[in-house]
Amino acid sequence: MFLKTGFFFEQWFMDKHTTLADIKNWIAQFVAERDWNQYHQPKNLAMSISIEAAELMELFQWHHIETPAEVKADAEQMARIREELADVLAYCLSMANQLDIDIATALHQKIEKNARKYPVHQEIDWYNEVKT
Ligand SMILES: [Mg+2]
Repeated sequence: MFLKTGFFFEQWFMDKHTTLADIKNWIAQFVAERDWNQYHQPKNLAMSISIEAAELMELFQWHHIETPAEVKADAEQMARIREELADVLAYCLSMANQLDIDIATALHQKIEKNARKYPVHQEIDWYNEVKT
């Protein structure tokens, strides 16, 4: 499954054709086939998420502030960003697999919590706290 390439497979694996459950299954299969479950302990995964996030941040280190359009105009940079973002996501989904966390439920609950904390049209002082 992972080695299939070409236009058909690249189109098939786009977000609009793929569920989170599909991706979680790919990660679980990839890890199981290599007998890596022994390494995918929660602590190791938390560290790996942070390490890959740091690799993503490194791509922006020492850059001036860039708009999304400016970043997208650099094809080589975009390729590196895609890879590091995929690394972060892979470890996040492996942690979800290992701990039986339903990502959609967790994300929905967190967004609802944030919506209560930051109501629409509320003036926010990002450096301090929410103003009422
Ligand atoms: Mg990486």
